[in-house]
Amino acid sequence: MVVHDKCEVLIIGGGITGLTIARELLMRGVENILIVEKEGYLGAHASGRNSGVLHAGIFYTPDSFRARFCVEGNRLMKDFCRMKGLKLNETGKVIVAKDSNELDGLYDLNKHSSDMID
Ligand SMILES: Cc1cc2nc3c(=O)[nH]c(=O)nc-3n(C[C@H](O)[C@H](O)[C@H](O)COP(=O)(O)OP(=O)(O)OC[C@H]3O[C@@H](n4cnc5c(N)ncnc54)[C@H](O)[C@@H]3O)c2cc1C
Repeated sequence: MVVHDKCEVLIIGGGITGLTIARELLMRGVENILIVEKEGYLGAHASGRNSGVLHAGIFYTPDSFRARFCVEGNRLMKDFCRMKGLKLNETGKVIVAKDSNELDGLYDLNKHSSDMID
């Protein structure tokens, strides 16, 4: 175990959130960053065990921060994978109505999401 007694930035949790923040800070010139992780390795919880889907943000409230950040994150994560040569399976998404009652919702979704889908 490496023990440091001083740092400029302390990040608790070595999942994708903590590691992404650390990476962003490094790219902005912050060097003395300490990540504290309670497990023996990084990404031990949700970040290392999720379904691996890059969500398109189409089911979130249109123009909400959540929808906008999701679309932007989707684009950035794809760029990152391509840059690092990481496997990216771009299957797209098919959304169907199960019956005619769902058609109005489907038209609404199409109207709101056509400019969001990458
Ligand atoms: C089953 C499942 C499937 C999912 N599928 C997807 C998907 O397909 N696409 C998608 O985008 N998202 C998906 N998610 C959501 C996504 O995985 C999470 O939003 C994301 O991983 C959260 O990252 P995080 O770094 O915030 O949390 P975590 O990955 O949980 O990291 C938190 C870290 O903090 C550490 N920690 C906690 N307390 C302390 C402490 N006191 N001291 C030190 N360390 C501590 C933990 O050990 C952990 O490593 C899924 C989630 C789950 C559970």
